[in-house]
Amino acid sequence: GVFLTFLLSALLSTFTSKTLSQRNTLLFMLEKALDKNELIPFIQPIIEAESGNTVGGEVLMRWKHPQRGHIPPDQFIPLAEQNGLITRITQSGLRHVADALNSAGIIPARDMTLFFNVSAADFINHDLLEECREFRRKTPLSGWQIGLEITEREPVEDTHVAQALCKRLDALGVQISIDDFGTGNSNYRYLMQFRPHYIKIDKVFTSGIETDASKEAIVRNIIAIAQDMRCMTIAEGVETASQKEKLAEMGATHFQGFFFSKPVEIATFFQNTRNPLP
Ligand code: C2E
Ligand code: CA
Ligand code: CA
Ligand code: CA
Repeated sequence: GVFLTFLLSALLSTFTSKTLSQRNTLLFMLEKALDKNELIPFIQPIIEAESGNTVGGEVLMRWKHPQRGHIPPDQFIPLAEQNGLITRITQSGLRHVADALNSAGIIPARDMTLFFNVSAADFINHDLLEECREFRRKTPLSGWQIGLEITEREPVEDTHVAQALCKRLDALGVQISIDDFGTGNSNYRYLMQFRPHYIKIDKVFTSGIETDASKEAIVRNIIAIAQDMRCMTIAEGVETASQKEKLAEMGATHFQGFFFSKPVEIATFFQNTRNPLP
């Protein structure tokens, strides 16, 4: 029996070993990259519809491997989420950005919110609260606010720990944003669970909004529920002037997308938000 099981599992592993070892190599590389601080946060500006001002940005991780070149987040983020590494990525983003703000000593022209992507694993203990407190300590009274983008990719369970964490984050002034809204399966639950300040209108709805009647209907409904719940709406993936105009007319409060700017290096983002010297 034991021998047969061994034989079977050996057979099985030869079939699956190629993809498995590829994944393991990437995972191993990712761990090393984290140790060596090779993951670099970029920032994509978020624009207020009414004023046209940049009022914040989304922090997006970039990984440039010395040999393999650029590895996209769509490859390493899900891998990190499945293997217990995502909390280290969240932590490294918050620390990296806070240190950069701190050492550059930049005070923004107006209040700015920097949004960090967080995952389900960030809600199983209170480490995230400590990291946000640390961010605050490094950037006192500077006008930089913290936002957290919560995705539905892996659902955040509505546990007591998660509830207590949200309360404390709220008390700290951390803004909550629901990412990928309407593309997962727990979106209305998320609105009750998190009482968000922002709802993001996903790129799947933004692209084609000018011509696709069903997308227009969905976005109208997202904006209506956001207004009823006193939430702001960030339309992401805005690539053209006509998309921007359509979304503004429909009542979206914020924009993000290549039409305004790609994600840029932190220094570049700061340069564009710097308070002009008196
Ligand atoms: P997301 O949170 O939905 O982020 C938006 C993605 O759309 C980003 O891709 C951004 O570069 C891209 N994008 C922005 N504007 C446009 C546009 O006008 N057109 C098009 N075609 N794309 C646009 P990116 O940077 O490749 O990130 C992919 C995903 O990886 C993110 O999707 C997010 O879920 C995840 N991610 C990235 N960084 C982090 C991180 O530090 N932590 C976590 N947990 N997830 C991250
Ligand atoms: Ca996001
Ligand atoms: Ca998004
Ligand atoms: Ca998305």
